Amino acid sequence: SPILDDQGKITMWVCSTTNIQSLKEEEQRKSDFVSMLSHELKTPVTSIKGHVQLLLRLLARETGSEFLGKLNSSLSRIDALLLQLTGLIGDMLDLSRIDAGRMDLKKDRFFIDGLVTEVVEDFRLSHQQHFFHLTIDNNIEITADRDRISQVLINLIANAIKYSPSSKVVDISVALAEDEVLLSVKDYGIGIEEKDQKKVFDRFFRVEGHNEKYYSGFGIGLFLVHNIVSRHGGRISVESQRNKGSLFTVHLPVL
Ligand code: ADP
Repeated sequence: SPILDDQGKITMWVCSTTNIQSLKEEEQRKSDFVSMLSHELKTPVTSIKGHVQLLLRLLARETGSEFLGKLNSSLSRIDALLLQLTGLIGDMLDLSRIDAGRMDLKKDRFFIDGLVTEVVEDFRLSHQQHFFHLTIDNNIEITADRDRISQVLINLIANAIKYSPSSKVVDISVALAEDEVLLSVKDYGIGIEEKDQKKVFDRFFRVEGHNEKYYSGFGIGLFLVHNIVSRHGGRISVESQRNKGSLFTVHLPVL
């Protein structure tokens, strides 16, 4: 800031600087810690999951007693919880990859309609109480990271299920529109108010009020989805109404 004399002339300048180096180092340490922790957690959790699945397979050969029935249902529950845990660890690893600028895409050429069908089939198997309506334009070939696009779809469909406590219907579609492919996931759940619609793609954002109590999560999924779609040169949009439902549409270039 300039310091002026009686005539309004500058007599001196006052400068203030803040050293943000230590803050940056602190951020880096936190990010390294999250990355290391996620890696350390991943190995034992993967191993526990392998053992649980082995036990489930062995149990499937045995028949009869009430005890075995209880053991089986307990192990199935553990298996489902481990799946949730591996998903969370994967998300944490992805976050630290993004922070470190190491989220690389492995691009391939593949049929997007085939991938969407596969993902929806998996959901049909794991969520037999739900109805997944699929509408597809066939033979749309794109160049993209297949696993990452699959992750985008899984996240959107999992959210559609999670945030629709009183509806069991999810509509999924793949459509070609000029030089874009549109992937959409529509639910008939709790919806998102207009003021929150832009924010849902922010890191750690969760809609206040109804969420924390009833729906588990950390507000990372849509941040990752947005990041992956942007890295493919695409975009994602949301249309929604409270208590009517939400429609998420991913636009990807057809290259
Ligand atoms: P999480 O579900 O783990 O909280 P996400 O990043 O996937 O994190 O979503 C961010 C927030 O956006 C959620 O907490 C929820 O409030 C809102 N949201 C996401 N998808 C839907 C949906 N299909 N219907 C209603 N709200 C949603």
